[in-house]
Amino acid sequence: MKISIIGSGYVGLVSGTCFSETGNYVKCIDIDIEKVKKLSNGELTIFEPGLEKLFLKNIREKRLKFTSNLEKGISDADIIFLALPTPPGKDGHADLKYILKVADQLGSLIKDYKIIVDKSTVPVGTAAKVRKLIAKNCKVDFDVVSNPEFLREGAAVEDFMKPDRIVIGTESEKARKILSELYSPFVRQGNPIIYMDQNSAELTKYAANSFLATKISFMNEIALLCEKLDADVDLVRNGIGTDSRIGKRFLFPGIGYGGSCFPKDVKALIKSAKEVEYDFKILNAVEFVNEFQKIYIIDKINKYFKKNINGKHFALWGLSFKPNTDDIREAPSLVIIKKLLDAGASVSVFDPEAINNVRNVFGSKINYSKNIYDCLINADGLIIATEWNEFRNPDFNKINKLLKKKLIFDGRNLFDTKKMKNLDIEYFSIGRK
Ligand code: NAD
Repeated sequence: MKISIIGSGYVGLVSGTCFSETGNYVKCIDIDIEKVKKLSNGELTIFEPGLEKLFLKNIREKRLKFTSNLEKGISDADIIFLALPTPPGKDGHADLKYILKVADQLGSLIKDYKIIVDKSTVPVGTAAKVRKLIAKNCKVDFDVVSNPEFLREGAAVEDFMKPDRIVIGTESEKARKILSELYSPFVRQGNPIIYMDQNSAELTKYAANSFLATKISFMNEIALLCEKLDADVDLVRNGIGTDSRIGKRFLFPGIGYGGSCFPKDVKALIKSAKEVEYDFKILNAVEFVNEFQKIYIIDKINKYFKKNINGKHFALWGLSFKPNTDDIREAPSLVIIKKLLDAGASVSVFDPEAINNVRNVFGSKINYSKNIYDCLINADGLIIATEWNEFRNPDFNKINKLLKKKLIFDGRNLFDTKKMKNLDIEYFSIGRK
């Protein structure tokens, strides 16, 4: 099939590459000319495990192309995917300006039947708005389909190639048939394609992300309670995670969820509910807990230094909002760095992939280290904000030699508490004895 993807970011680039890998001809379109230039030259603009190999292979085989010209990009497409940003607006609603602008342009550019598929996360009713805008200027038949994307950054290629499920919201039999053909290579192991109406498809994505955010905030509160009740959250986590009704995933406490999806999607669902005069009580609490959790580690640091961290120097490991990505959108690390700088402390940071993105935010206000050990030199303490695998088993003798003070604030519970005690390290983690 011939496919166009409008928006070549985390979702668009991964979707486009994976569709080309299954034999389709894909054109990825982006408004960012520099990005298109890099991608056309075989230079990836994001870090995502496993992506580069597929990306280069499909460029070589001429199944994957890039352009910034919308008209040329969609002219021969059977299916047009929208993988455009839907960032939070001022009052938390999903800002649809990118989607609606493209929808407005598409009407006059479509010359034969096309399926327009919305992969972006959008509030209920957006597909109907997109249809209306396209229809305004369009003289041919077309369908608009809602197909929310569930890939996780850090495992995006794997998730796209082997999704748990694919959700397709459409009432068009024709669109349904074509899309099931497109997706058939991705569901060979029996994972379902779930068909539904558009409103339900749009809501499904928000419900999924909000439920996962709820699980995280719930465990973060259990962790805080563990600290007060002299219990250990790792034991409690094991105790409940083995219950098949609960499951083991998303039970790890930490310093709050971040990223480009959970924070904005929770906000957007609260706002959508408000618009129909429903107060989504649980989600308000989920957000509140998450904001608290992001500064909880700073509270611990302040308490340790008796509220005087002015002039102290900290090492910070982990900048991306989670491991295996370079994405720093809404990353807890940014909040921590800002709070430390505001309090007069200095910071050296290390991350395997996200340093360049953080440099764009903090510039020369912080120091950027080449590896985990350089980062520790002369630091009054180490803070861990992301659970990259390479942080899990470091050389503790080296750590003890390099740190000015043998002190670790671990926001991801990476190390064994007894081991830390034996190494004479003052170790603060989340919800553990
Ligand atoms: P992104 O910011 O990484 O990428 C969006 C791209 O769209 C950018 O490259 C931008 O330059 C481009 N763009 C903006 N306006 C354009 C226009 N008029 N024409 C062409 N290109 C344009 O965003 P993302 O993370 O890929 O997310 C896209 C959507 O998918 C969002 O709604 C998001 O909520 C959803 N989503 C994201 C993830 C994720 O893990 N990132 C997962 C599932 C769903």
